[in-house]
Amino acid sequence: MKSEPLIPSTPLTIAWNFTYSCNMNCEHCYSRTEQGKELTQGQQSRILKKFIKAKVMNINFGGGECLMRPSFFPIAQLAKKNGISIALSSNGWLINDAMAQKLASLPIDVVNISIDSADPYKHNKFRSTPGSFKKAITAINLLKQQGIRIKMMSVLSRLNYQEVEELIKLAESLNVDEIEFKNYKPAGKGLANSSQYDLEPIEWKELYTKIIDMQKSASISINLGAEPILCLLGRSINNEDDKDLTSGSPCGKLSLCVKPNGDVTPCVYMNLVIGNMLKDDLPYMWKNSAILKQLRCRKPEGKCKQCPHFELCLGGCFSNTYNILGRMDGPDPHCWWQSKKDK
Ligand code: SF4
Ligand code: SF4
Repeated sequence: MKSEPLIPSTPLTIAWNFTYSCNMNCEHCYSRTEQGKELTQGQQSRILKKFIKAKVMNINFGGGECLMRPSFFPIAQLAKKNGISIALSSNGWLINDAMAQKLASLPIDVVNISIDSADPYKHNKFRSTPGSFKKAITAINLLKQQGIRIKMMSVLSRLNYQEVEELIKLAESLNVDEIEFKNYKPAGKGLANSSQYDLEPIEWKELYTKIIDMQKSASISINLGAEPILCLLGRSINNEDDKDLTSGSPCGKLSLCVKPNGDVTPCVYMNLVIGNMLKDDLPYMWKNSAILKQLRCRKPEGKCKQCPHFELCLGGCFSNTYNILGRMDGPDPHCWWQSKKDK
């Protein structure tokens, strides 16, 4: 077995799925199919103290819709007071002027607002929520007025793959700080609806190629996330010393996910539980979890065995492989690489 790569002594980032509740029901949602007993505010506070002790640097609050849990503000405030950078992902529905002011007073470091289509009708239908497009735009404008950094988030799918120009233009017109195009993840409802919304590998190649080209002329920053298969389009290791950290997926090497009931998983899209924050020690789980060890030492499988990019890609996004193929090692089902003999 390949030796374990060098990793930080604790996760630098926690994706904290703070609640199962949400006021929407989006077609691609990884969390609508999850349920459990949510942590109390007291338990959330105990968990936050463990993050502080472990010197976690960033918490990305997500859900569900985080703003539906009143405990979000005191917990986020405590995190901020202890020097942790905080981000919030929201559908924007609950962000009125008072809420924007409250977020500014934390102060929140960045708010990610989801917009799935530049066409209000398509966005509203995809989210099963009439009026949600207008609310998201209003939220962005109110957050801007408070001087909050805003990222517009769009999950790429068959719904919007032909309108990336329009989404970029919308982001530019809203004067957001950044637009992030996220890869469609076949998890939760996203898995159930993948035949309708996921793209074929060749379509991922064409779409990413197009967006990378648009990055050169757009007036705002366009982020494609940490998708390992992007190495096929030229992502390279700048610093050989960082290779262990920058190769493959950052999940389980730089970050972990905590679910609303305290369960810990390698990433938000994967329901493979490595422990629970209420009863388990974070540094111990991080160091000793057999699941994390396996994910950090992925072996080439199938076409990855012939692929010259394996050292950088490590088989792609393991949640895609796990959720679709039911195993840990690649290749990522979104990968378009083919060996010469398969072309
Ligand atoms: S994607 Fe977000 S807004 Fe949509 S249902 Fe899921 S948690 Fe709610
Ligand atoms: S074949 Fe495997 S290692 Fe190569 S790019 Fe595809 S998923 Fe990554």
